[in-house]
Amino acid sequence: MATTKTLPQHVDTAIVGAGFAGLCTAIKLDEAGRGDYLILERDTEVGGTWHANSYPGCACDVPSHLYSFSFAPNPDWKHAFSRQPQILDYLIEVAQRYDLYPKIHFETPLAAATWDEEAGRWRLETPRGSFTANRVVLGAGGLSEPSVPALPGLEDFDGTTFHSARWDHDHDLSGDRVAVIGTGASAIQFVPYLQRNATHLTLFQRTAPWVLPRRDRRYGALERRVNRLLPGVQRAVRLRMYAVREMWLIGFAIKPSILKAAERLALKMLEKQVPDPQLRAKLTPKFRLGCKRVLLSNDYYPALTQPNAEVVTDRIVEVLPYAIVTETRDGARTEHAVDTIVFGTGFHVTDPPAASYVRGRDGRTLAEHWSDTGMSALHGMAIAGFPNLYMLVGPNTGLGHNSIVLMIEAQVGYLLDLLTRMDARGLTQVEPTRDAQDAYNDGLQRKLERTVWNTGGCESWYLDANGRNTTLWPTFTFEFMRQLRHADLSEYAVSASPTREPEQVPA
Ligand code: NAP
Repeated sequence: MATTKTLPQHVDTAIVGAGFAGLCTAIKLDEAGRGDYLILERDTEVGGTWHANSYPGCACDVPSHLYSFSFAPNPDWKHAFSRQPQILDYLIEVAQRYDLYPKIHFETPLAAATWDEEAGRWRLETPRGSFTANRVVLGAGGLSEPSVPALPGLEDFDGTTFHSARWDHDHDLSGDRVAVIGTGASAIQFVPYLQRNATHLTLFQRTAPWVLPRRDRRYGALERRVNRLLPGVQRAVRLRMYAVREMWLIGFAIKPSILKAAERLALKMLEKQVPDPQLRAKLTPKFRLGCKRVLLSNDYYPALTQPNAEVVTDRIVEVLPYAIVTETRDGARTEHAVDTIVFGTGFHVTDPPAASYVRGRDGRTLAEHWSDTGMSALHGMAIAGFPNLYMLVGPNTGLGHNSIVLMIEAQVGYLLDLLTRMDARGLTQVEPTRDAQDAYNDGLQRKLERTVWNTGGCESWYLDANGRNTTLWPTFTFEFMRQLRHADLSEYAVSASPTREPEQVPA
């Protein structure tokens, strides 16, 4: 989808990203009669992460009926857990149905957003030009910027390398000795494909993940018809899925000991699928289930038992032009000859790139604001010092147990309520007070202290460099939705003048 549109000089709302978050914002702004917005999208199509990630086997580990907008159910899901192409098709169809394409500027990445104190607006820069906006909604997502480890010698590797979120579909794997680095949610989905299609697969595993059976199935024509004719049935199915998923939170955040039953189930599958005790020992997790994202797969372990697959758990120390070199604890080095390296090494989550190109009231970037304390925001979206900026799926809104689409819808609903309240009071600028933001985050951190994510004995991207969990929501999602039902202006410094700094007033 090429872009030919010219950017306007000014717009009421600038949305960044045309994934679930950006599309939801646009739809709800239209519904509220606030159609003066545009969407900046760096890619060539809508979909966000579901466009960027097209690796073989890419699918969602949240059930289809739940991983979709509540206001746009899809009766035609083909599987209980959707594959990437169908989720992308769904988002394209939603963008068409709500007539969003005319508002989207494709191949137009945001390069910088700077708060102009004098004008009381945001100044946005892109490779296609600059414009101003009264407010900015960042919907770029937390899992958008691939993270590739800086392995010594990697730049001199003679073969092919790519990250799972930038899959090289033109690269022919037949005859290749392929290395995979990483054993996260992405890697376990494409490892079986690589094992089938490459001559040899070497999986470099730093941490053995917990893997549970994936209870997937095809939805038949009859089920799809029922969904279409009786939408209430589909809603009920979604509600049941939601409730079942929420139950996991009890284990993750309240009583981790009940996760032992799930651990037993995972170990049973491992034992059944991996008869070799040595390989099984390598693949057995050494931390509490839930501390890292729980993975779902029926074909990951079987792939690793095949004669052309090998699991290496020694530390990678360098890359040679033709090999990856590992070292044991007592210093013994091994060269693993490989032709292609696939990085399943995740994303920049606790240091999102957006933070380095958004500059607030004091001229400092978000990254500079967060450099000491780590990421923090009020309700995971509004940040002191950054007036009229809303970061969807921001700090502490990630989930280890349920659908992120629920969080996005709650945040967009909150934003619309906030705008209504601002209009009623004639306000043009709002930003959280430092006290409100700090109190909110202190509360979150207290709740997170006892959760399996903080105490489960693993290192994960849920925790930042300071060991603070700045990514996950600590409790039930219905609590997040309850808190975001109404915006409370007493949490904000406000101003009715576009050019006067906001101050706190009684709400
Ligand atoms: P990830 O969960 O961050 O996993 C990255 C993997 O790379 C980990 O196994 C990590 O090891 C390893 N790694 C990183 N740096 C390394 C290094 N220098 N040397 C060796 N190994 C290294 O990334 P991901 O698998 O792309 O998944 C990211 C997130 O995307 C998921 O948690 C999930 O939220 C989302 N996702 C969702 C789905 C879905 O079905 N909904 C599918 C895919 C991804 P350690 O474990 O030791 O750190």
